[in-house]
Order: sequence, then structure tokens, then C-alpha cells
Amino acid sequence: MPLCTVRDCRLALTREQRTLVCPRGHSFDIARSGYVNLLQPQDKKSKDPGDTAAAVAGRRRLHDRGLTQPLLHAIADLARISADDSALDAGCGEGFYLGSLAREIPGHSGHGIDISIPAIEAAAKRYPDCEWIVANADRFIPYAGAAFSIVLSITARMNAPEFRRVLRPGGRLLVALPAPDDLIELRGKGREDRVARTVAEFSQGGGFTLVEQRRATTSAELDTDAVQDVLHSIYRPIQAEAPAAMRVTFSLDLLLFVRV
Ligand SMILES: [Zn+2]
Repeated sequence: MPLCTVRDCRLALTREQRTLVCPRGHSFDIARSGYVNLLQPQDKKSKDPGDTAAAVAGRRRLHDRGLTQPLLHAIADLARISADDSALDAGCGEGFYLGSLAREIPGHSGHGIDISIPAIEAAAKRYPDCEWIVANADRFIPYAGAAFSIVLSITARMNAPEFRRVLRPGGRLLVALPAPDDLIELRGKGREDRVARTVAEFSQGGGFTLVEQRRATTSAELDTDAVQDVLHSIYRPIQAEAPAAMRVTFSLDLLLFVRV
């Protein structure tokens, strides 16, 4: 169960019918689709923070076309999640990675956090076996210390101190970064290689040790609609001259750390 996010409260929430309540009487409604919005006014900079409904829908269509299956398999292979694990996906988006992993491992407990209401709503509707929370993980991850045995951060913002706090000693952290050749055909140039900087951030004083590193790359021939979905998902304006069908590369650098 998550913790209360009312300023400095942080007591454990318990379920009472269609709400989660803390001992101080703060309460949060459970949405019809099963997620809980724990976002506080001070936790958001805009009225509707995070991914828009259009970006969420575009990303989901790309997953549904099977384009990201090789990336999912690489993540599953490295994370080695078992039924004994309790997993947190911080910045889970519309839930594809956590939800798919949880389906493959019955009995394992999956928890996803994202700041976007449309993303979490889509996750809760499709993957009802996991717990889905709207919250700002940049500030405070609303779970108790040592609550999880594995944290996933998949192309999301990273919060090393909070990842460390919610992980048990010996717990795993899997970070997926967009690799330099990710979507290179649409971006026109390579991205910055973020591996060295990320490894340094987590290992030098961050309280983690890097145990394994891999690159997962796949490419697919996309039709015009799929190209537009990719552009939506990365917030590129729709180009006046719509790009025709083209081959697009999807590429992630995967880093597996252990919490010291
Ligand atoms: Zn409270």
C-alpha cells in the first residue's frame, strides 16, 4: 500500500471501500478503473503534468504493433523478475513494460507510478493485476523504505536517493536509457550517450553498484501512421510533409545495478 502524500504526512494508507485513508484522516478516491491519484497541488507545475492523452495513445499503438517486443524481452531477461519480487516501475507511462512483465510472472507484485493521469488510467484499464498510482516520483516515491526488491526506470526521470530508499539492501535497479541511435532516422542526428554519466551518478556516492550493461536494439519498417505515432510519442510537431513509410530504429541502453 502506498503512503499518504499530503505534505509531510507520509503515513501508511489503508483501503476503506472506494478510498485510501491515512490515520490522520486524509483520503484519496480509488478511480473506477482502479488507480489512485496521490498527486498534491504542490507536486505539479502545470494543470495536466506529464504525457498527454495523445502521446499515451500513440505510444500504446506502437507497443501493440509489437515493435517494442524485442526491447521488452531484453528488459525481462536482465531484470529476471520472479514471483517473490516486489517491483516498482517509476515513470511507468501507460504500463506496457511492468504490465507485460507481471503477466508473464503470476504472483509477483507490480506497482507503477507516473505523473500523467491519462497514462496511469490507460495502465489501470489494461493491466488490472498491478497497482497504479499517479504521483510525482521526482520528489517523493509514496512507498515505505525497503518496500521493493526491484525498481525499473525505463526512459524515465531518475531519482537516485528515492530509488535507494524504497529498495531493500541487495535489491536491483534496472535503468533503461534511450541509446544514441534510438529513433535516429526521425531525429536526424544521434542522441547524447548517457551511460557513463548515469553509471557515475548511481555508483559514485549514489549507493549502487553496476553489475551488468547491455544495449537492446531493434528496427522496423513503419507505415505513415506508425511514423506519426512515434512523432506524437516524442512530441515532435506533425511535419507538414508527412514522412512516408520508413525504417526506424528503437534502441535502449540497459543498466542493472544492485543497491549496496
Ligand atoms: Zn495523511
